[in-house]
Amino acid sequence: MENLPFSQSDRRPIIRHDARLKRGSNILIAHTDAGRVEAAEAIRGTRHVCPNCLSEVILKRGRIVIAHFAHKPPVECDWARGETLAHMEAKRIIAESFVSRGLRAEIEWPVPTLPSHRRADVMVWNDRGDSVAVELQHTAIDLDEIEARAFSYAGAGIAQIWIPFLSDQIWDEADAVKKPDGRSEYFVRRYPARPFERWIHGFNFGLVPYFDPTSKVLWFGSMEGHWISGDGSTWYDQWGQEQYSAGYNRWSKRWRELTLVGPYQPKEIRILPKRRTAKSLGHYHWPGGWYIEPYVPRERRPETPTVGSGPT
Ligand SMILES: [Zn+2]
Repeated sequence: MENLPFSQSDRRPIIRHDARLKRGSNILIAHTDAGRVEAAEAIRGTRHVCPNCLSEVILKRGRIVIAHFAHKPPVECDWARGETLAHMEAKRIIAESFVSRGLRAEIEWPVPTLPSHRRADVMVWNDRGDSVAVELQHTAIDLDEIEARAFSYAGAGIAQIWIPFLSDQIWDEADAVKKPDGRSEYFVRRYPARPFERWIHGFNFGLVPYFDPTSKVLWFGSMEGHWISGDGSTWYDQWGQEQYSAGYNRWSKRWRELTLVGPYQPKEIRILPKRRTAKSLGHYHWPGGWYIEPYVPRERRPETPTVGSGPT
């Protein structure tokens, strides 16, 4: 087993719930004299160094958490900035799913043109040789940071797909509707979508591919504005114009109505790049370049970016 490529490995670790959130100075890929090696396949007793800071890292491979390399303190490497174990596990699951389809995929792949943290979580190459960067977001990311990375990928001609994590709590709020093709649809009436999720929604023309770290599957989300009742108020519409409502109804700034369709296995992700043009809307800026339409819902989707109707 030890020498099989990771796609054929059945040594997926059991992740203890409390361990999944733990952060450390960890990486999945290290360098040896022979080149890149993933922690799950690394040979004990070999000298492993971080590809970024070139300091020696320690192989950690046990039964409880995903195999990884840890920096030795003091840690000053920006590739070791408190990444969660759940994030590392997701990178591995997504990469494995591509390799199981016969595609080349690499975890923590260096992309020197990126601003800070110059690596893609997963890089995959499709049958046509297009490079596709997969960015998994376990924790929130600022709009500035996601936009800097997105414009950088777009400028380098690399297609990109952004996959936020679903929180476990979402299922408490969700109403289930069974769909005829064996998928389920869930509806969340008041979802506090974070700005980076709204950004992804706009980048993908009304779709957010979510990763569920508990069941290791994907759900495709789409958002609509949430209409609420209230006293008269002023607000800004999607063109930034101040509006006044003497009446009773307005779009919620905080809530979106979220529809989730799934589950989809990671190996079902379509990685056909499609081209889009640059666009700005309110505080949101999307680059022109290649995006991925990971799944095509039956309903026709909007052709312009949307952060879910309502204020941006
Ligand atoms: Zn390092």
